[in-house]
Amino acid sequence: MPKVNQPSVTIDHDKCIAAKGCRTCIDVCPTDILALDEEGKVHMAYDQCWYCLPCQHDCPTKAITVAIPYLLR
Ligand code: SF4
Ligand code: SF4
Repeated sequence: MPKVNQPSVTIDHDKCIAAKGCRTCIDVCPTDILALDEEGKVHMAYDQCWYCLPCQHDCPTKAITVAIPYLLR
């Protein structure tokens, strides 16, 4: 069972190239919930994900994983 507090969007910072200027996921997210934190790392700023997945599909390094809740699958 996934943990209740598990964030719906996880970013693998070892793969993410935000430090090189990539903003693809931030730009494509229709709810604007992805943002850079104070360290310049992409994170989910608000838990308002629509599970629409363009962030995961468009990420050039496949650094994003969206965990779709069981009831929405
Ligand atoms: S799945 Fe959609 S709403 Fe959720 S973070 Fe990705 S682009 Fe944004
Ligand atoms: S699209 Fe992927 S590589 Fe680019 S900033 Fe977002 S998570 Fe990082």
